[in-house]
Amino acid sequence: MERFSLINKGEILLWGNILEFKRLVERIDALFKNFPETFKESMNIAQQIKECILKIDPFIDFYSKKVCSSCTNICCLNKNSRYEYDDLIYILALREKFPIPERNLDVKEPCYLLTEKGCKIPRYIRPSRCNWYFCKDLLSEMESAPAKVFREFSNTFNLMLQLKQQMLNSFFQSLSNFQGNI
Ligand code: SF4
Ligand code: SF4
Repeated sequence: MERFSLINKGEILLWGNILEFKRLVERIDALFKNFPETFKESMNIAQQIKECILKIDPFIDFYSKKVCSSCTNICCLNKNSRYEYDDLIYILALREKFPIPERNLDVKEPCYLLTEKGCKIPRYIRPSRCNWYFCKDLLSEMESAPAKVFREFSNTFNLMLQLKQQMLNSFFQSLSNFQGNI
């Protein structure tokens, strides 16, 4: 069994080498697929993260529709939607298909997930740096929400961040135990 020193922190720097990117996805995917008991806790926490994102989705969607429809500087570019290693672990722990691009990507091109009808994937599997980017206009719209509604959003958002850290801790702990036993 191969050792997973290849899992790094931060942005995945393989957008110019999609073949290598596919191999990375397959290797991590194989961990969850072949050893679900070992990674059970991180998979359970990933489900809780998804629930948090589903809960705040209507709130963000409501305010995005108000602001983004008239935006003249749409931020859906490849450079703003790069996945990070944390996102990859989370999506594969959910047992979702990771949206691998079909070709190498240029950072200045429109995001490979953008279609004429908008984003082609649900919010809960979008890259973190895209999902949690609120431009000034969008943020000020969101802050205009009733205090209780904004507080609920903020609490769920913070819970989601805590869960993400727990999921990663659990994943790397399981990985370390697992690799120690092979
Ligand atoms: S988030 Fe802001 S910059 Fe991005 S499309 Fe919406 S209004 Fe434009
Ligand atoms: S993942 Fe979707 S929402 Fe995010 S930048 Fe790409 S097209 Fe836009």
